[in-house]
Amino acid sequence: AQAIVWFRNDLRLDDNPALRAALDADLAPVCVYIHAPDEEGTWAPGAASNAWRHRSLAALDAQLRRRGSRLRLFHGPSLATLQSLVDTCEAQAVFWNRRYEPRIETRDALIKSALRGSGVRAESHNGALLFEPWALQTGQGGPYKVFTPFWRKALSEWRLQTPWEAPRTLPSSEAGPAGVALDALGLRPARPWDADFWPLWQPGEAGASETLEIFIDGALRGYSAGRDRPDRVGTSRLSPHLHFGEIAPWRVVAAIEAGRTAATAPDIDAYIRELGWREFGHHLLHHFPHTPEQDFNPRFARFPWARDASALIEAWHLGRTGVPIIDAGMREMWSTGWMHNRVRMIVGSWLCKHMRVHWREGARWFWDTLVDADLANNTLGWQWIGGTGADAAPYFRIFNPVTQAQKFDPAGAYIAKWLPELAGIPVPLRFSPWTAPDVLKRVAPGYPSAPVVDLAGGREAALAAYQRSR
Ligand code: FAD
Repeated sequence: AQAIVWFRNDLRLDDNPALRAALDADLAPVCVYIHAPDEEGTWAPGAASNAWRHRSLAALDAQLRRRGSRLRLFHGPSLATLQSLVDTCEAQAVFWNRRYEPRIETRDALIKSALRGSGVRAESHNGALLFEPWALQTGQGGPYKVFTPFWRKALSEWRLQTPWEAPRTLPSSEAGPAGVALDALGLRPARPWDADFWPLWQPGEAGASETLEIFIDGALRGYSAGRDRPDRVGTSRLSPHLHFGEIAPWRVVAAIEAGRTAATAPDIDAYIRELGWREFGHHLLHHFPHTPEQDFNPRFARFPWARDASALIEAWHLGRTGVPIIDAGMREMWSTGWMHNRVRMIVGSWLCKHMRVHWREGARWFWDTLVDADLANNTLGWQWIGGTGADAAPYFRIFNPVTQAQKFDPAGAYIAKWLPELAGIPVPLRFSPWTAPDVLKRVAPGYPSAPVVDLAGGREAALAAYQRSR
């Protein structure tokens, strides 16, 4: 007897509760992936995310083949595809792991009731979170809006799923259709603009485990301070792996905890707390499903956003704002599909405050360009930096990109790496090259001669606009 195991953002075998459920029920798993981006509405995955998914699906198929099974790929619609698979494979059940994006939650609920209505066992599991969004509630029984009490509650109810290893061989079934070839899904970019991504990343479960090991042997020690330094490898770079479910967060926690000593405790706690922000992002997205589009806090309803900011936005996209730390970040993202968290905050603050562009513009651009683009985390990050979030930075906290660079990239190495044309400008001038126009003109004649928005003037204008709109 067969079960359909419907893979989504859980592209791994170990710690995969849906796969495990099929095996526990003694059903041969028919492993499928259904490509149905239009079912995600306006948040269909972006280009960088698709490029990653292409490789991650290939890696998953290879893992399955090593165990005597394989991954079958289909085009949506999801429900009709599952129903026809159930019929042709004579499957008794459909298992999957939950996602928490609003459109997907609604869709999945419909799919579950339609399948059950036709007598099929349809079951969803938690494959992605330490605490599902409804697991933690305030004393009044509602959702949390502030991180600190949310996290305190999480720590007080701490219990992790136990790690589970998929068996070395999987029962296979040839029943039903073979599916389409990976290339037919059209995930891989037509032009290879992503070529520079792949020396850095290894999509898939094996890549996720290796990345975790490298982090534990390296940057974990000193993480609590190092995580703010874009000029170093100070973080785990697990975000795309976590987004695509190539590793379970409880496995990450267990592996990190295994090295706990008095010396490592602060770094371990700091790291797990960051995973806590990911949990909080999913909690907020589930309970406040309008927030990818709308301000959590409506305090900006009458804010005078910049009119016709298209030239400013384009300079920001291209990494040509004339402010080196910002341009370095935007170019890091072009080249690698990832940007350091500290720099995400600096470029975000610049867009929303100095340029007075709504955070949605930034969220959209990140959505298309990040390999870790994640609706929960991206919404959380942008509402936070835009000042509209539940638990946001106050609007008057406007990052000064020059002092931020001095503090977090003190030798200017991050700037020099992503803007090699500025490497010949000595520090500290490299942080604000417009203050030495002769040097800038001589060393990097192609770089903007001045910031697209004056630093002090932009800050003043943003604060004045905020006062006016209150
Ligand atoms: P580490 O420091 O090693 O952290 C470990 C893990 O914790 C990360 O992989 C991530 O899953 C989680 N995490 C860390 N910081 C945060 C955070 N602030 N919020 C939520 N989860 C966090 N993260 C995404 O995964 N996808 C996004 O689309 C995304 N968009 C962002 C947009 C903005 C404007 C900002 C300020 C942040 C955004 N983040 C996003 C959060 C954060 O920048 C990345 O998760 C982090 O840089 C990933 O690198 P890492 O894996 O090395 O992080």
